[in-house]
Amino acid sequence: MTACPTEAIPGPFQSRCATMYFLSHNRVKKVQYLVDLRPLIGNRIYGCDDCLAVCPWNRFAREGRMMSAYARPELATPDLVELLSLDEAGFRQRFAGTPMLRTKRRGLLRNVCVALGNVGDETAVSALEQAVNDPEPLIAEHAEWAH
Ligand code: SF4
Repeated sequence: MTACPTEAIPGPFQSRCATMYFLSHNRVKKVQYLVDLRPLIGNRIYGCDDCLAVCPWNRFAREGRMMSAYARPELATPDLVELLSLDEAGFRQRFAGTPMLRTKRRGLLRNVCVALGNVGDETAVSALEQAVNDPEPLIAEHAEWAH
């Protein structure tokens, strides 16, 4: 309950996990809860697993046999500005065969905008200004918030 960056677990057996909103809600233009979460999600662009990291049961977990083979170390600390420049074809090529396609381009770039807004890096301002004109309203709206 205390590890969650978005205070999504107010009590035992209660959750309104931000990860679900940031991974699944790529069609909803305005969800008040998501808007409220923006400052709390920090620089995460694909949800968060902080509660799994602190779960005492997970100390028994072992690495799955396919995890090494499918690991994408280049995505551990991605260049957010570079991600923001991906067009539809670039997004599909970059994440082919991965669950990251789930968010679709509009969902991932929405999350990138939120992360850049939270980081407050001046070098991202120009990229965010361009994203304000993205044909996807979901991206444009969050770029406007972030820049
Ligand atoms: S995955 Fe992250 S946001 Fe969701 S409940 Fe766990 S700590 Fe909170």
